Amino acid sequence: MQSSREIRCLKVGEIKLWKAELTYGVDFDVRVTAPIFVYLIRSGRELTLVDAGFRPNRAARINNSARGTLQLLQSALRRLSVEPDDIRNLVLTHLHTDHSAFIGKFKRARLFVQSKEVEFARNPLPTQAPFYDSDILETLEKSDAELIDGDKKLSDGIRLIHTPGHTPGSQSVSVKLDKSEFVICGDTIPMYHNWYPSRRRFGTAVALPRIPPAIHSDLNEWFRSCQKLDDVSGTMIPSHDPLLEDGAAFR
Ligand SMILES: [Zn+2]
Repeated sequence: MQSSREIRCLKVGEIKLWKAELTYGVDFDVRVTAPIFVYLIRSGRELTLVDAGFRPNRAARINNSARGTLQLLQSALRRLSVEPDDIRNLVLTHLHTDHSAFIGKFKRARLFVQSKEVEFARNPLPTQAPFYDSDILETLEKSDAELIDGDKKLSDGIRLIHTPGHTPGSQSVSVKLDKSEFVICGDTIPMYHNWYPSRRRFGTAVALPRIPPAIHSDLNEWFRSCQKLDDVSGTMIPSHDPLLEDGAAFR
């Protein structure tokens, strides 16, 4: 039977960055306006949301360009006639504040996060502390979130893949569509350039197998996660690439 699965990429905020924050050591002098997305997966009548929007915290507000509100998230969903209560599964690629701000608004959703991510959010590396918010962690700890250790089949055609390196509990979401497979990578792969380092159209062509994000907890783990993603015969969907358009649909 043909699947009726689709992925929609919804822009719910943005932040201006030096590109090298996303592509470690490459393109130091390039500014980018990085979009912040959530991803809605329709699988028959079941709705899964990957990530939960952005509300600039104190650290992000130092960067005046940071933009993200609950309203942006709600209106992005509403454009597809979806309300927060319609979401059945909420998957968090990780707990950085630009991926998890509004978890408390999805009251009827089952929440999925890696246990290693929760552990790290409680006691992050100093380089990563500004990206975690204690109130998000408190909301999560009060919820009955499912803490995952490793990979997990979420439902028919949707798989969670533990891809540590950006953070210890980063996970990606592979989605099988009619004719292809796509992987929502979170910040494991923030831009197409991270995955295709030699392609000039994405930035300076470099002879690396992959370009890591500058924000990382463990580069060995990150490269191993890339090998894991290589084994998925799918197309990567990055987390902050301006080439990815608001509303982009994969079917
Ligand atoms: Zn992140």
